[in-house]
Amino acid sequence: MISLRDVNLSEAPISPPRAWAEIDISALLENFAFSREISKCGIMAVVKAGAYGHGLETIAQALEQAGVEFLGVANIGEARRIREAGVNSRIYLLGATWEEEREEIVARNITPCISSIEEAAAFDAIAQRRNVCLAVHIAVDTGMGRGGFLAEGIEKKFEALLKMPALRIEGIASHLSSADEDEEFTWQQIRSFENTMERLGGAESFLWRHLSNSGGMLGYPAGCCNLVRPGLMLYGISPIPSHQKSLKNVMSLKSRVTLVRTLPSGHGVSYGRSYVTTRPTRVATVGIGYGDGYPRHASGKGAEVFINGKPYLIIGRVTMDQVMILLPDVCDVSCGDEVELFGKHISASTLATQADTIPWEIFTGITARVQRLYC
Ligand SMILES: *Cc1c(COP(=O)(O)O)cnc(C)c1O
Repeated sequence: MISLRDVNLSEAPISPPRAWAEIDISALLENFAFSREISKCGIMAVVKAGAYGHGLETIAQALEQAGVEFLGVANIGEARRIREAGVNSRIYLLGATWEEEREEIVARNITPCISSIEEAAAFDAIAQRRNVCLAVHIAVDTGMGRGGFLAEGIEKKFEALLKMPALRIEGIASHLSSADEDEEFTWQQIRSFENTMERLGGAESFLWRHLSNSGGMLGYPAGCCNLVRPGLMLYGISPIPSHQKSLKNVMSLKSRVTLVRTLPSGHGVSYGRSYVTTRPTRVATVGIGYGDGYPRHASGKGAEVFINGKPYLIIGRVTMDQVMILLPDVCDVSCGDEVELFGKHISASTLATQADTIPWEIFTGITARVQRLYC
């Protein structure tokens, strides 16, 4: 028997990862440049949820170098990681905050949006005590129902905010709920935002005015705004299919073939035997599964992978670490071949539809086990 003591780790090579995500920074920067070109606005690049699974620190560094105006995050933990990565761009918090987060937000000079008088008063008190002035944006709920002041009676609340000595209201924001689904409602939200802005003293009262996510930017020119908040489109996916051709693919999720065999007729493939061969069938196994974030719900839905220039169908259920694919009787697929799960050839949008979800969830679902490789 070999004991652990006999294993010489200094001689053990490091194997390449089973599943990895190739992330093309120059494609990200092209999408960033495109965002500027179509919006003619300042850009708040949304990098929440680990830059949609692309890697928070690296993406934030690249966008800072490209001259981004703001980075948009979901919480102070993400803001802290960005600062600790040496990124000094302005950081904006996209949602309401709770008490225990606020001291650090003020201390790090992160810019929150304000959804209530109570929230504003708490920030004001902290900023006064620390003897600083905190820039904030007033959030307006034009129909998203997630945060912000309701339009009704907002003038009085705005006056109260203006009186808070340690707050400086430098922006006004709202959020579109249905930019990729409901044109009429989206225009209604845009008009309501313009109207609210007028009632609060006009556009000139606010240095930054913003409400558009990717869908809003691509589908609706909002002349009242001078800042936009693209997320998904920076990562190469358009929520509006007709604009897809303007964007460059950023992430490619990859793995390798680990096994190629011929199964006899009547042999089940994967858990539950939802797929059973009806004749001798070439089947390959690939080293990725839902434990990597490849969606289990794509099982049996026609999802394909791409190997050596050709698509192949996934058969049977997606398992935690492996998936099986159907090969023709004669083909050049062999063990060790690189497999694209999505990327340049297979759109994350297509996979999302097959898995009954959205590309945002596909990206953010890629787990920590998947190594991110930047090129
Ligand atoms: C996530 C988010 C965005 C980015 O949305 P995309 O659809 O990915 O472009 C913009 N604004 C707010 C407030 C968000 O929460």
